[in-house]
Amino acid sequence: MFKLIKEIFRSGEATVKYPFAPLAMEKDLRGKPEHTGEQCIACAACTIACPANAIAMATDVEAATRTWSIDYGRCVFCGRCEEVCPTDAIRLTEELELAVANRADLVMKAVFRLARCEVCDTPFAVAKEVAYVQDIVALGAPTADEAAQRRRLAATCPSCKRIHDVTQIAAFGVARRIEETRR
Ligand code: SF4
Ligand code: SF4
Repeated sequence: MFKLIKEIFRSGEATVKYPFAPLAMEKDLRGKPEHTGEQCIACAACTIACPANAIAMATDVEAATRTWSIDYGRCVFCGRCEEVCPTDAIRLTEELELAVANRADLVMKAVFRLARCEVCDTPFAVAKEVAYVQDIVALGAPTADEAAQRRRLAATCPSCKRIHDVTQIAAFGVARRIEETRR
């Protein structure tokens, strides 16, 4: 008996006091992904990268909104969403305590407004994403006019862009024919 007590004192405590005392977390532990709506541009990169289909997007054209959602019940804490996010809007935290009484409470949502096409006025992409792209494409523009043109194109829906391309090609064809007749 005395030998056993001695052994217990020698080996120390084998258990931790959790949940009555906080649990010490390892550095770089992969816990709950935290989403910051203000930073998110709803680009959908995380929805494509997520291997567990925990992140989804749903578009409501009538309301001109897109809803981003994450289901923590499906998340496997792999960190792919954090890796692909261009704006650091989603980051893994050290939070592990995700238990809830209701399954629905594991789903978190963020709603984004859609931008309307500059040409046809149809809602086509999240306004924040359009603004993000506009700033990038305008960066290397040689003139202010070119920057404005690039910004306008970025705020144009894919259908109107195609029409724009066709018009450009047609105009180029006419110009070439005029050039040929002059020769
Ligand atoms: S951590 Fe992995 S599984 Fe969880 S939401 Fe991000 S990509 Fe999906
Ligand atoms: S990758 Fe980042 S910016 Fe894009 S939708 Fe996901 S959280 Fe938002």
